[in-house]
Amino acid sequence: MPKAYPYVGPKEIAARASGSVPGTVFSSADDLAAWVQAAETSRGRVTAMFVVDAAGRLRLADRRSEHVACAGGSPVLAAGEITLSIRAGRVVAEGVSNQSTGYCPEPESWPAVSAALAAAGVEPPEGYSTELSFRRCPRCDQINVIKDQLLECAVCGSALPMAWNLGPATEV
Ligand SMILES: [Zn+2]
Repeated sequence: MPKAYPYVGPKEIAARASGSVPGTVFSSADDLAAWVQAAETSRGRVTAMFVVDAAGRLRLADRRSEHVACAGGSPVLAAGEITLSIRAGRVVAEGVSNQSTGYCPEPESWPAVSAALAAAGVEPPEGYSTELSFRRCPRCDQINVIKDQLLECAVCGSALPMAWNLGPATEV
């Protein structure tokens, strides 16, 4: 079952994002290609922010945006960063991560990304190219990205739980 992840980041960022336009949804592969072309850097690729919204649709926004703005403040099935390029007229996903400290989605959110990419006309890669594991410190509330499987809070040194604890995520 896919899970919907609520926003868990700082409230002031959510407040700042509340008036902004959500990330772009694409009705066709051509639409998406035009977006990538318009955003492309000189090296022919663009790294954008993405969410998969509760309806399973891919939404893209500028990388300097916020995931909560990209999602219109709503829960998401997945969130992270995606690098896109155009080869032979088709959009290619070169890399996808679940890097979103606003939503802290689990690595298990990948199937939602895969399905959303396929629906947007992009052949999905095998999985996240960069896969992050998030935990909230039970003592100081800091959101940690687990590095080298070290379950220790970077701020206060407390032990972090084995299981993802940024919830409550709901099954959809
Ligand atoms: Zn801590």
